[in-house]
Amino acid sequence: MRDQIINCGGQVLFDQKVVDFIIHNNTITGVKTQMGVVIDADQVILATGHSARDIFYLLHEKNILIEAKPFALGVRAEHPQELIDKAQYKCNTRGEFLPPASYSLVQQVSNTGVFSFCMCPGGIIAPAATAPNEIVVNGWSPSKRNNPYANSGIVVQVQLEDVIKRSISKNIDPLLLHFQQEVEQRAFAAGGGLLKAPAQRMVDFCNNKVSATLPKCSYLPGITSSDLSSVLPPFIHHVLQKAFIEFGKKMKGYYTNEAVLVATESRTSSPVRIPRDAETLQHPQIKNLYPCGEGAGYAGGIVSAAMDGERVAMMIASKMGDTLKGL
Ligand SMILES: Cc1cc2nc3c(=O)[nH]c(=O)nc-3n(C[C@H](O)[C@H](O)[C@H](O)COP(=O)(O)OP(=O)(O)OC[C@H]3O[C@@H](n4cnc5c(N)ncnc54)[C@H](O)[C@@H]3O)c2cc1C
Repeated sequence: MRDQIINCGGQVLFDQKVVDFIIHNNTITGVKTQMGVVIDADQVILATGHSARDIFYLLHEKNILIEAKPFALGVRAEHPQELIDKAQYKCNTRGEFLPPASYSLVQQVSNTGVFSFCMCPGGIIAPAATAPNEIVVNGWSPSKRNNPYANSGIVVQVQLEDVIKRSISKNIDPLLLHFQQEVEQRAFAAGGGLLKAPAQRMVDFCNNKVSATLPKCSYLPGITSSDLSSVLPPFIHHVLQKAFIEFGKKMKGYYTNEAVLVATESRTSSPVRIPRDAETLQHPQIKNLYPCGEGAGYAGGIVSAAMDGERVAMMIASKMGDTLKGL
């Protein structure tokens, strides 16, 4: 992809962080990097991902419209892959031509949705924090899917009113980013540092019991036995407890102390939307600024983020084509 950009006359700049936008008369004319370099631009695509909190705050401080949106938060559940194979294939041993089994689970608890996210058969739980003193976990599967574990995010839908009414956060900012960050920071403290993640066996979690031992886990920095009720907001903890019991009724063997829950799965989607005009794809207040991809709230996952990028690029190409024709 980098070669393609360069072959088309583009440049790829590493270690150049955007720290400011240059705006004149509500039109963006460039960006400024942390080294003080100004990069002039006729059009700016803002595709900084769902973890660029500094960019969200920058937009907010500059009174550029940006809004909090619902997101999801929870834990990553890891079972032995063999257990999931047995439950899904309904046999004792998976046949040699069958792939490691996956699953997809959804449950409503007290009018709140709980769902499995990014299930990784034969996978690995990965550290995915983007700032110091936070624990964020995610998951991935190697192409052979040959790890002995099956992991999946199990997350609770978080509506804005949940955060405002039921939050344990004392520090609610208009973008609700503190809510997400505080959970991640509590997870860091509970894990005991060095990126160790707090964890609890599934049945113990539902019975409010700190696990005396933990099973082996694919999360490489290691896990620490913790009471996850001290990490998760109470309403999320409560909804997850009920959901795991219900999931056990849907999938035989799922609700088991052989499974371990690792906190926190907090970046399934962006907590913020950067508005844009449906026709021009530009920010409604700032001309030539194109919010794009997952961080702007228009995608969730690799393919939809790529397609949104393509859409914005084609919009700019057609606009610039018209400009060039007019010269
Ligand atoms: C471990 C893991 C596994 C995943 N597995 C899957 C999967 O199997 N399938 C799937 O569909 N999705 C998966 N995802 C999610 C997927 O990676 C994202 O949905 C996707 O990358 C979003 O694309 P994006 O271009 O919008 O943002 P990103 O890929 O987050 O790109 C944003 C870029 O902007 C840069 N940036 C941020 N701030 C600044 C700044 N101030 N100045 C300059 N640059 C900046 C960042 O460094 C980054 O390179 C996974 C994510 C993780 C972490």
